[in-house]
Amino acid sequence: MSEKELTTHQNLHFDELWAYDPAPESPDYVSIEPQYQLFIDGTFQKPESGRYIDTVNPSNEKVLAQVAEAGKKDVDKAVTAARKAYEGVWSKLPAKERGKYLFRIARLLQERAREFAIVESMDSGKPIRESRDIDIPQVIAHFFYHAGWADKLEYAFPGVRPKPHGVAGQIIPWNFPLLMAAWKIAPALAAGNTVVIKPAETTPLTALKLAELIRDAGLPPGVVNIITGAGQTGVDIVNHPGIDKLAFTGSTEVGKIIQKAVAGTDKKYTLELGGKAANIIFDDAPVEQAVEGIVNGIFFNQGHVCCAGSRLLVQEGVAEELVYKLKLRMETLIVGDPLDKNTDIGAINSKVQLDRILGFLTEGVEGDQKIYQTKCNLPEKGYWCQPTLVENVSQSHRIVQEEVFGPVLTIQTFRTPDEAVNLANNSPYGLSGGIWTDKGSKIFNVGKRIRAGVVWANTFNKFDPTSPFGGYKESGMGREGGIHGLLPYLELS
Ligand code: NAD
Ligand code: MG
Repeated sequence: MSEKELTTHQNLHFDELWAYDPAPESPDYVSIEPQYQLFIDGTFQKPESGRYIDTVNPSNEKVLAQVAEAGKKDVDKAVTAARKAYEGVWSKLPAKERGKYLFRIARLLQERAREFAIVESMDSGKPIRESRDIDIPQVIAHFFYHAGWADKLEYAFPGVRPKPHGVAGQIIPWNFPLLMAAWKIAPALAAGNTVVIKPAETTPLTALKLAELIRDAGLPPGVVNIITGAGQTGVDIVNHPGIDKLAFTGSTEVGKIIQKAVAGTDKKYTLELGGKAANIIFDDAPVEQAVEGIVNGIFFNQGHVCCAGSRLLVQEGVAEELVYKLKLRMETLIVGDPLDKNTDIGAINSKVQLDRILGFLTEGVEGDQKIYQTKCNLPEKGYWCQPTLVENVSQSHRIVQEEVFGPVLTIQTFRTPDEAVNLANNSPYGLSGGIWTDKGSKIFNVGKRIRAGVVWANTFNKFDPTSPFGGYKESGMGREGGIHGLLPYLELS
């Protein structure tokens, strides 16, 4: 394709060709309280700290609610409640009874799926299509899956007696708020631990709704404690001597702080941190399918995905055609109201995150990098970033090495499979990767040389509660999901 032809196509943005009528999901369906308290020992309690923080809707910058900010005393109350529940009730229950509670949570979530999806999109900025079709169904699947494990642990680990650790302290990020809560709570409870969990400060609402649901499910008080707050609340959880096992998902920077904090203690821990996945397109790949996979890999959830396919590696022979088709496809992506069912890309989760992304696209530009952004109209209020492609990058550039955590894709070319593997592995991270080719043998040969926890072949960003997820190198340690994800919540003796 000639440059000229491409320019002509790009001048006709999708909005001008044929636009969809708005199809918004109504927020009237849900009720959000003006103020939320801490869920400790089965009840909602005002924080001893007396402090509250606002959570906003990033698509219009309006405050949705105030949530309590747990201080040191509040964290202590939550850990004490979790310990009491562990020793008094939860560790004494027959395993199948634990399973019943998890089944009940899963079924109640199914009944209230729509409400949870809407609140998730309002509080986080992610498109309703994703929260409705991916996040919430995955949340439910996680509770069902782990409900099934509760009374089968001795078969999962034959010859040893699996025992819970006690109290699990769990800290989660804002990119998949309820899904990360499910990834943490479900295996902990199935294995027989009790929980103190803290959602991220910008996305606490679905976790607080889950607290209501857990109360309604009749879970014994103190088995799950959900406390809100920012980084300092996280620090207080990490350092509390009553925590037996820590599970953290978030930035590599905080992961390292946690690792230092637990060194020399008895605390078990797992870390799920950042990523910088290479998505490798060979010249025998089905190009149209690959374009869909690339778009899903990086623009899904505004690129707020630790396993996002943020580095595109394309074999030289197909690079020109692929970039041309990718740009055309990018022009059709709809950025806007997260509650609109047509929206592909919602709001960036916070002002802080938007500034971080824009920083990469301004100060971060090095050499003769070229930034291509689609011509979509961005709403005036709220935090937005167009789908962005960065060309003419080299391996040493900051934008290739560091995690942007936004809808920003870099593109590099390669000639041989060896070169692709070298480029893919030349990263401090190793969470995920993708391979697109017509040849099964190439999938196996290249796939096994990629140092990453998950490598997708001819697809991207697919999740399932039965398959383990986690990183190599600075992407973390330990696995979540599947039988591997149960292990960190158990002591085998
Ligand atoms: P973060 O690591 O600061 O926050 C994640 C969670 O940890 C939040 O609940 C936060 O309140 C808590 N926290 C913050 N400081 C803490 C501390 N010292 N001790 C204990 N808990 C603490 O992440 P962020 O600032 O929200 O995002 C920064 C970057 O992290 C992003 O740009 C992205 O690269 C990365 N990130 C990765 C993931 C992932 O899923 N791997 C998720 C979110 C963010
Ligand atoms: Mg919010």
